[in-house]
Amino acid sequence: MANEHTSSPAPGTARIHVLLPLPLAGAYDYLPGETGAVPGDFVVVPLGRRQAVGIVWGVGSASPDAPVAEAKLKSVVEVLDAPPMAEAMRRFISWVAAYTCADPGSVLRMAMSVPAALQPPRPRIGYHLAGPPPERMTPARGRVIDVLAGGPALTRREISEAAGVGAGVVTGLAGAGTLAEVALPAHAPPAEPDWRRAGPVLTAEQQNVAERLEDTVRRGGFSVSLLDGVTGAGKTEVYFEAIARALAKGGQVLVLLPEIALTAQWLERFEARFGVAPRTWHSDLRQAERRATWRHIAEGRARVVVGARSALFLPFANLGLIIVDEEHDGAFKQDEGVCYHARDMAVARASLGEFPAVLVSATPSLESLVNAERGRYHHLRLPNRPGAAELPEIEAIDMRSAGLPAGEWISPLLRARIAETLAAGEQALLFLNRRGYAPLTLCKRCGHRLECPNCAAWLVEHRFQDRLRCHHCDFSRGLPEICPECEGEADFTPCGPGVERILEEAVALFPEARTEVVASDTVHGPLAAQAMVERIARGEIDLVIGTQIIAKGHNFPLLTCVGVIDGDLGLAGGDLRAAERTYQLLSQISGRAGRAERPGRAWLQTYMPEHPVMQALVSGDRDTFLEREGEARLAQGMPPYGRLSALIVSGPEEERVRTVAVALARAAPGDADLQVLGPAPAPLALLRGRFRYRLLLKASRAVRISEVTRAWVARVTPPPQVRVRIDIDPYGFL
Ligand code: ADP
Ligand code: ZN
Repeated sequence: MANEHTSSPAPGTARIHVLLPLPLAGAYDYLPGETGAVPGDFVVVPLGRRQAVGIVWGVGSASPDAPVAEAKLKSVVEVLDAPPMAEAMRRFISWVAAYTCADPGSVLRMAMSVPAALQPPRPRIGYHLAGPPPERMTPARGRVIDVLAGGPALTRREISEAAGVGAGVVTGLAGAGTLAEVALPAHAPPAEPDWRRAGPVLTAEQQNVAERLEDTVRRGGFSVSLLDGVTGAGKTEVYFEAIARALAKGGQVLVLLPEIALTAQWLERFEARFGVAPRTWHSDLRQAERRATWRHIAEGRARVVVGARSALFLPFANLGLIIVDEEHDGAFKQDEGVCYHARDMAVARASLGEFPAVLVSATPSLESLVNAERGRYHHLRLPNRPGAAELPEIEAIDMRSAGLPAGEWISPLLRARIAETLAAGEQALLFLNRRGYAPLTLCKRCGHRLECPNCAAWLVEHRFQDRLRCHHCDFSRGLPEICPECEGEADFTPCGPGVERILEEAVALFPEARTEVVASDTVHGPLAAQAMVERIARGEIDLVIGTQIIAKGHNFPLLTCVGVIDGDLGLAGGDLRAAERTYQLLSQISGRAGRAERPGRAWLQTYMPEHPVMQALVSGDRDTFLEREGEARLAQGMPPYGRLSALIVSGPEEERVRTVAVALARAAPGDADLQVLGPAPAPLALLRGRFRYRLLLKASRAVRISEVTRAWVARVTPPPQVRVRIDIDPYGFL
């Protein structure tokens, strides 16, 4: 980015471009002043009447984004004492902004998520014994003196913890001259993984794949490998070898996981392999950890980071390998703010940084498989589980002939299988991807459905909490005493099941079993999820009733029976990826069964046993299913063979929203290889009090869809309060 102006700045003409973590169209120009700021430096600059922290994005003549007259230019205030952002990372931020049609400052904001980390670590103050005992001696004071006697200086917090006294006692002793302050050296960062330690002895098949992965790391340069192997095949063990190789080379490693798969089990395995736990990055981190981790990553001292999708925007100084585990997972797509898919952006990051990426899955996305077929990705397969472990057998239960009375959901066949499992002292799992007790509550008198006042959505009954909740906004309420429609006295009936209702049925059927619900509203955050997973693994629960939170990345050695309550659930609505996603989810949940020495079984309750998804699961013939799925996409010009971008127009007044949506349709690009669908009210036509319309742009792969979409949206200026959000490569269609 620097040009010839850097080497010989004519006095008064050298400007620096500073990108601020704000939703602005581009970088702002400043004079470097006396600071000597260079690209990558974190700098403080004046912004209006205040000051802001940004990054020097480039040096040279007037920025085309926001030209400012020479005389009006302000100077950089100071360069912060923080490691500058690496050039590959800066290029990545610009690239993501261009691809997702976001403001570069909005992308930068994701990379500057911990402003406190830009300040150097605060000096630590310790206390040691330096004078005579105080005149007024107390037992508490005595304990402090005992703790420090003959030992090193400690911080006030360490002393108060060791002596069991309030921090004020320490301060008091310092005031009395018994203790004196000393500066302590900064905390040493935690020990880093030791790649020299030996892993398990790999099977020949695993060894072969591990060597090919290690080879991409050893050679360096950009490459993408798709590590495609059944659940339990040893994919994790194999990519650990690639991590070891990257560490040996001296680089940093990032492992991306869907947040809820980031479990103690994964961390423990890592620790068993490399001697220490990796650094983690997820929503549950405390501020002090967040700050230290961010800084250590920027300094290149944190060697392995495992995190959720946002970890991709951490400022790695020297990233040398990215692993995306469960690469097919929908949780990698962010639909708010900057809309990006972390798997795709990870590949871009590897390309810009010229290092390898590894995508890992038992059920890879069609996108990745097509890339592998075309030879863009190395396709590495692990089709077998090592040792005795076998893949679970999957059978369909035809619910059309199950003869279940209304209000019951566990078929006689499934009941019998669960009973056998429990009798054998093994665990069973009932899967239903729906939180709460019932997805719909209606008035028996007039048929009125209880809806969210802010969203076009039914309220979901959560009986544990005694509330009706909207799953799209924060709204919740108790059950009304009169029907809001017919005003008759409350006579509501729940319709359909959620996990809480299945629990009720299961407890009635198996009163002796220890039964528990595992869903995102019963288990809060990754730490609680870890604790729950451990309890299941230890056999403290006999019958687990779970949503997809339980589907990912866990090993449950005692679990041998999986029952899917409603195999058809994900197929309803039928968006582009419904079949693919349902196949992935159900095969993942079935894969929970029988991972140790005991063989597992999975049972799918379905009203469509002939559906290709059910057929593929039962026969285990993934490749034929995906081939068909691919052919259908190809015929329709849909991803991965075509490209999509979505516009979501929203605002508080429906008429204005519709007007903008119609104007956008009129302004749509008219090229032959493009097609605009819509505008139409979104399936979720009202969300958080905003009306929503959608348009979809479909294009051939050759079209530069980000540029076309950006230019299209720029042709319409919406009135205040109406927003147009761009989603390149949309995954959600609500
Ligand atoms: P995946 O990631 O493909 O689901 P894992 O790497 O989690 O598979 O392996 C499944 C289980 O089998 C783990 O407990 C793992 O430690 C064990 N395992 C896999 N390969 C080996 C091996 N070669 N030697 C010993 N244990 C292995
Ligand atoms: Zn709502």
